[in-house]
Amino acid sequence: MSFAEVIGQQQAVNQLASMAGSGKVPAALLLAGMEGVGKCFTAYQLAQVVNCRQSAAADACGTCPDCRQIARRVHPDVLLVEAEKNQIKIDQVREIHHYLGFAPLSGRFKVVIINDAHLLNGAAANALLKTLEEPPAQTIFLLVTHRQQQLLPTILSRCITVMFKPLSRVALKEILSRQGTGAEARLVEKAVALSGGSISRARYFLDTDNLSWRDDFLSRIGALTPESYEDVFALAEEVGRDAERIDMTLYLLETFFRDALVLTMDPAGGGQCNLFHPDLAELLQGFAAGRSATELLSLLEELNRLQSRLLFNINIRLALEALLMKLVARR
Ligand SMILES: [Zn+2]
Repeated sequence: MSFAEVIGQQQAVNQLASMAGSGKVPAALLLAGMEGVGKCFTAYQLAQVVNCRQSAAADACGTCPDCRQIARRVHPDVLLVEAEKNQIKIDQVREIHHYLGFAPLSGRFKVVIINDAHLLNGAAANALLKTLEEPPAQTIFLLVTHRQQQLLPTILSRCITVMFKPLSRVALKEILSRQGTGAEARLVEKAVALSGGSISRARYFLDTDNLSWRDDFLSRIGALTPESYEDVFALAEEVGRDAERIDMTLYLLETFFRDALVLTMDPAGGGQCNLFHPDLAELLQGFAAGRSATELLSLLEELNRLQSRLLFNINIRLALEALLMKLVARR
């Protein structure tokens, strides 16, 4: 393991390698960018680079005891903090303070990786802020997030941001092939198109059960007509009951609307190679027919609002019902 293992994030890696190479890694870094693009993985590579015993350069050796322990995620100087029940609480931040009360045991730096840092609750974020204002020596905080805008501005202002991009289709295929999924090429192609640049989503759609669920869900959305009020209620209720899939459901709606928008602007389908759902072209054509770009943009805006309200325990069934009602009413 080392920076060389990170695929498809050259810019972020260059930025981090240059900090490490010059011995100037800031006390707090924000690793931001959408889900499933390798932010947490890269955080561990950085933890190796700053703690590697054999290499003083901008990359880790990957073989010394520190590198190996970090790769196995058992190094005493690297702490991973993750949400419990969708929240990072003040007790967890107190544990960080306690952990930082002692000098590094083995490595040169203590590295605290806070995954999904946007899930820090108010009290926890304020407690963390105090530490970020006066970080202990030999400490590096790596805040990992795909919802940067939900972090306190005061926390953001203490961090240097490193942006991670959506992964290219080539990068996604290479990662999947290294991970040895054993999936056939056509399925990989489909999953990669559907992923929107996220390896976690690509893996999700490599599962044929999840793929069938998408086929079923989107064909029902595509089949909605002005008389489909009952179908709208039924769909909204099902989605409301399936809390685990809510993010993925909204993602499917978003990508479906986006594809329809592409087809509206380019009815000949010349842009098909860029569609998320190229295999559902016929369904998409039917859905896009008779809808204007303005309508689809407004549906996408509505959906965005719904997505940003998700964290506030909104009633999903009602919110989705309202959205789908607009969808059928506008035909
Ligand atoms: Zn090493």
